[in-house]
Amino acid sequence: MRAVRRPAEALHGWIIGRRVRAIRDPVQRLRYLRRAQGLSPSGRASLRYLRRPALVAVAVVALLAPRPTASDNDQAVRPGQATPSAGRVGEVWLVEDKGGIELYSNGLRVESRHAIDGEKRSYPVYDRDSLAVLEWRAGKVGIVYHTTESHVAPFDATHNQRLQNVGQWLLDYVRKNASYHFVIDRFGRAHRIVREAGAANHAGYSVWADNRRIYVNLNSSFLGVAFETQMRREGGGAEVTQAQVDTARVLTQMLMAKHEIPPGNCVTHAQVSVAPWNMRIGNHTDWSDGFPFGALGLGDNYGIPLPSVALFGFAYDQHYLKTASRDLWRGVVLGEDSFRHRAAARGLSAERHRDAVRKRYREILKGLDKVVDAVEKTT
Ligand SMILES: [Zn+2]
Repeated sequence: MRAVRRPAEALHGWIIGRRVRAIRDPVQRLRYLRRAQGLSPSGRASLRYLRRPALVAVAVVALLAPRPTASDNDQAVRPGQATPSAGRVGEVWLVEDKGGIELYSNGLRVESRHAIDGEKRSYPVYDRDSLAVLEWRAGKVGIVYHTTESHVAPFDATHNQRLQNVGQWLLDYVRKNASYHFVIDRFGRAHRIVREAGAANHAGYSVWADNRRIYVNLNSSFLGVAFETQMRREGGGAEVTQAQVDTARVLTQMLMAKHEIPPGNCVTHAQVSVAPWNMRIGNHTDWSDGFPFGALGLGDNYGIPLPSVALFGFAYDQHYLKTASRDLWRGVVLGEDSFRHRAAARGLSAERHRDAVRKRYREILKGLDKVVDAVEKTT
């Protein structure tokens, strides 16, 4: 259902749209957008403005999308290309592995005493232009960050025993379910859950892409790193301790160096999660906002157009419109813009193109089911 657009809001959106299109620098345009939202016609208008699909489509897309130029084409908004470059990761090596503790040259310590093996990795990757199978791989090409959403005790000395108890319960649970490769507990300890060589069950229905390759169902291709915490109900990410952030930084450095992972493939579960049964994004919403990319030495990867939207035409519902954070919205809006460019480049209407790419996505999923069956039979 299309939302009814109120005249005052429509005019407001139109004025903002005109002004913003005149600003060449994308960062300045985003800043203007943020300021403009605070200058809406009425006190709550800015919220309504973001919640109305028609306004989102007409105004916000126009505001956030790259400014059209004579050379504007699909290339301009490719997922992966918007990644701000993070600092180069130097060599990080294993100093010693003794008594169940791994020590790395960048200060990282990993408790690996109770690590388990995951399922064998072997997965197809797809060409981002043709969506055809490009090659088969078995390596680790990215990191998905999660929150455990487990019970969290107040972080103070009076709750010390409780903090330890719930932490231990969590570790037992995630090991039993092979949920992640690493969990970073409240005290900043990194626990190896599933050994890196195998797959973990952390991001089953998911999509990500870099400049050339598309990855579907990231359990096989990405590593899962979870923070012991919960997302805040009121928004603003999750509460994490400084020790957790410090550990996540050195753990990310180690994994990037060891597996030659590009910074643009270090993303959050909310950015990659999809629901194939209704072709909507947002099946999981952990780290939908507030992820400390900068503190981890990464660029702001919320600025990457969501590949699920851009490449396979995933959509969202009214509930998502109401609850999605502004951080994630940037990826959604830029993903939709990229999707329209791709449709236009193929001479198709958005609807025709959406039908075609969704059909291709369903074929890919069917094929992946066969891959899982085959791998299980050989192991
Ligand atoms: Zn998750």
